[in-house]
Amino acid sequence: MTATNMHPRGARDVDGTRIVFAPGAIRDLRSHIGALGLHRAFVITTGGRSVTGISARALLGDDWAGEFSGAREHVPVAAIAAALDQFSASDADSCIAIGGGSAIGLGKAIARRTSVPLVAVPTTYSGSEMTPIWGETDDTGKRTGRDPAAKPALVIYDVMLTLGLPADLSAASGMNAMAHAVEAMYAANATDAVRVIAEGAARHLSMSLPMVVADIADVDARAQALAGAHMAGLALGSTSMGLHHRICHVLGGTFGLPHARTHATMLPHVTAFNAPAATEAMTRLSRAISCPDVATGLTALNQRLGLPATLEGLGFRRDDVDRAAEEVTAAPYANPRPVTRDDVRAILLAAY
Ligand code: NAD
Repeated sequence: MTATNMHPRGARDVDGTRIVFAPGAIRDLRSHIGALGLHRAFVITTGGRSVTGISARALLGDDWAGEFSGAREHVPVAAIAAALDQFSASDADSCIAIGGGSAIGLGKAIARRTSVPLVAVPTTYSGSEMTPIWGETDDTGKRTGRDPAAKPALVIYDVMLTLGLPADLSAASGMNAMAHAVEAMYAANATDAVRVIAEGAARHLSMSLPMVVADIADVDARAQALAGAHMAGLALGSTSMGLHHRICHVLGGTFGLPHARTHATMLPHVTAFNAPAATEAMTRLSRAISCPDVATGLTALNQRLGLPATLEGLGFRRDDVDRAAEEVTAAPYANPRPVTRDDVRAILLAAY
């Protein structure tokens, strides 16, 4: 057995990515990257040690090659340039992103530009760690795409790192994962296996998120939510996303709305729109979330989680509805139901 195909401490290979899923797994960070032949890691976080309570530098010892703690939502190009400067000044052979989708997104930007392997240590439920999907934002808005270089080589899920994630952020990022499961379920390129995974994701998330919000220190509920996020990310990475993700990318990238909460707010509305054109998907989803009408069930789940119900509550301006609808339909994503500008306008107004 060579150094690169050993599977230390419970690691498994899933869809080309090595996965470790265990409480306390972060303590073995250095041996896990070493098993991939990596010995100089550049670390990316949002807010550094204060977010997770761990010091990557202490964990990595001589394998620590530098750190950038300025990851921000929607991966602004200015943050990429700043991180890349520091990365280039180091002798790193790899990049480790510790944090939510923002840190992982910046890690993907570095991995794409330098071709170093990316290691992701997710501390939210965004699911980004399981996808080759990148997103970057500049003055013209948010661009997304797929690139195998953006897909992490190793993902370490350590539930203990998620215990500090406040209830509102936990709920919102969990509903972001739910959105991946919903759109994967009705994607034209979903396979039977993906649908089963998406159904499992929706079930795990709908069961665990209310328990996480009720007690953010509930390790079992957190672990179930993390498993749901993993499955949702796997489903997202295997399918093309539809109208819901397109709307959220425009609202986030162009209008600066918060990513995860926007997903939560929009999901029931887009689901209600798509439901007549995705009846089989709705049957599976209704089974997963234990509600006969999926959009109604998602609204109720948002309410139980204390999430904002309206776009207005997220700071969106009614005057921007037309511009947003125009942008969404100018570059549409594949969707089970055909979409016009007036449809998007009506969906946005309903969510407003
Ligand atoms: P985030 O990464 O922005 O994190 C939200 C906040 O929570 C930050 O302030 C962060 O510091 C803090 N935080 C994270 N983990 C914490 C913890 N364990 N304890 C305490 N605080 C913690 O939010 P997010 O919702 O995870 O990610 C959103 C971003 O991810 C967006 O830019 C979105 O586009 C991207 N995303 C990408 C994909 C993909 O496949 N490419 C999928 C989903 C989301």
